[in-house]
Parts: sequence; structure tokens; C-alpha cells
Amino acid sequence: MDKINKLSLIERINRMMSDEQFREHCYNCKNNNPNFEYEIEIAEKIARLDIEDLTVDESLIHLGASFPEDVVDSQILTFYKELDNICPDGIRLEATAKENMQYISHDATKEKSPRSYCCSAVNKDGTGFRKIFINIEGRIGDFSNACHEVCHSLSESFIAMKPMKDKNMQEVATVIVDVFSAEFFKKEFPNLQINFIENAISTQIQNVMKAREVLLDGLIIKLMVGEITLEEVQKKYGDLYLKNTSILNRCLNNIENKQFSNMFEKKYLLPQAIAQIMLDRFKTDPAVAVKQLKTIIENDTEWDVFDTLKNIGLAGVTEVFDDYINNFEVRTQKLLIEKEELQKTNDANEL
Ligand SMILES: [Zn+2]
Repeated sequence: MDKINKLSLIERINRMMSDEQFREHCYNCKNNNPNFEYEIEIAEKIARLDIEDLTVDESLIHLGASFPEDVVDSQILTFYKELDNICPDGIRLEATAKENMQYISHDATKEKSPRSYCCSAVNKDGTGFRKIFINIEGRIGDFSNACHEVCHSLSESFIAMKPMKDKNMQEVATVIVDVFSAEFFKKEFPNLQINFIENAISTQIQNVMKAREVLLDGLIIKLMVGEITLEEVQKKYGDLYLKNTSILNRCLNNIENKQFSNMFEKKYLLPQAIAQIMLDRFKTDPAVAVKQLKTIIENDTEWDVFDTLKNIGLAGVTEVFDDYINNFEVRTQKLLIEKEELQKTNDANEL
């Protein structure tokens, strides 16, 4: 059985190797990205983080029942109000969030995909189109997800429909909001603390899996343009992709279905790394952390990533990723300990 699977995998890779349309796409991907090599290097470092011992209890993440829409909507405002309380200076987040509530829809039946989004565009007649779709899926992440989409709407890119100067800025503020809001809701819903912790562990695993996908895309691009051989990929990266072939299979499926426009999609990696540093700050010095978040939201259409890092006191991209990689184990261990302690208290209460 294993042999047949391996054979078919090789056949599929050979088929990919002779796909000239795909090869052209790979050349474009690489030639249009001056940071390609650097980005692969970072993705590899994150991809190699050890997550073998981390497991997730999905039943803690899928709650089985959804929160009512009006509860989610009011919690969005409660969260932004709290941020304004923590740091009254700068832009008023709650007021803008309230204003933008008019654009929210929760109706998944009207959407092609269940993925939440926030978008704005200028119509042909010059008027604007704005929409925030927030899918409530009965997941512990629903509240944070809602705050994330509304955070997109607080940016000038939504309000004034200005394009962002640096596409890499798109998810910086929103991913910070993911972690701040999870921290906030953990206190707001004490009965669900353990669920929020499990969700945070799950996010860390997903980040590593995402980096593995990005790295694989990068390796395939290098393979297609002849910079690396299949033997080299097998030898150096076999442990990441051949022990469990789900990532490889998904990637090949996309290529076979000609869905490769989103290849090498690394837009969440840097924001996730920034968000962990900001979360540490939020816990120790919330006023500073919220003030910095506000300035990012206020300037994200004009700033590039380097302006942003400078303004929140971080030296550069490399340092941010180094922080993420070097502290990955400590941070996940802390989450595991926190979870264990909660379990102990819960068990004690049941006695
Ligand atoms: Zn987003």
C-alpha cells in the first residue's frame, strides 16, 4: 500500500515537473520577489520548530453551539471600549467600530465561502462599497475573529478606501487584535478559559504548519526553475513532508487544479511573530501596547513594515522572527502549564 502511494506521489511530481504553464508561474513568483531567498530562510526556521508533542483537543475549540449574533456584536464593542479605556489617547476605536457595525453581515448562506472577510471598493459611479462578513461557527475563536474583521474596518484603507502602500501591512494590526482580544475574552468568560488557552496552542501549531506550506511552495518554485533537485528536496526536507504527506498532497492538488495564484502565501507569518511580542507587552504594560496598536491602525495605509517596527521599538524583521523562534518553546510551555493548572482547579471544584 505504501509503495503504491509513493509511486503515485512520484508520478504526480513528475507530471508537475512537465507542466510548462506552472513553470512559467514559478519563474514569475521568484523573479518578482526580491526577498524570495530570505523569506524561504525564515519559513524554514519556523517550519522546523518542534511541534511533535503539541496536541489539540478539538472539542475544546469547537463548542458545539454558536453564540447569538447580537452577543458577538455587542462583545466586539465591549472589547474596543476596553482598549479605549486602557489607552484613552489617540483614535477612538469603539466609536469607529460602532459606526462600522452597519456593514456587518453574519449571513453565511449569501457567501460563496464560509471564510470571514472585510472589504471595501469604489463602485463605477464613484460611490463606495463596504462589507464585513463575520461567520459565527460555534468556535471559541468566533469573538476574536469578529474583532479581527472589525479591526480591518478601522483602517483608512476601509474608511477612506485608500490602498495600502505595503501589502505586508494588511494583517499586522488585525493579528495583534486576535491575541489582545483572546486575552480580553479569557477574562470576560472565565468558564471558557481553558478553551481560549487550547485555541492559543492550536494557533501556534497552525503557524508552524503554515510555515511548512510556505516552505514547500518555495521549494517547489526552486525545483521548477532548476535551482534545486528532487533528490536534495527529498534528503533535506523528507522529514517534514514525507512522514505525513497531507501538506504535500494539498499542495499538489492545488497545482493540479491550476490553483496556484496564492502560492508562497506568507502574509500571516510576520504578523504572528509581531503579535506574540505585542501580547507580552499587553500583559505587562497594556497602556503602551494599546497605544502602539492604535498608531499602527492609524497609519497602516501609509507605513510599510519597517516604519511599523521602528514605531513600536523593534529593530527589524530578522529580530522579530528570531524572537518568535527563540521563544516558541517557552511560550507554548507556559500555555500548557496554564492549561494544566486550570484543569487541576476544575477537577478540585468538581470534587
Ligand atoms: Zn484579516
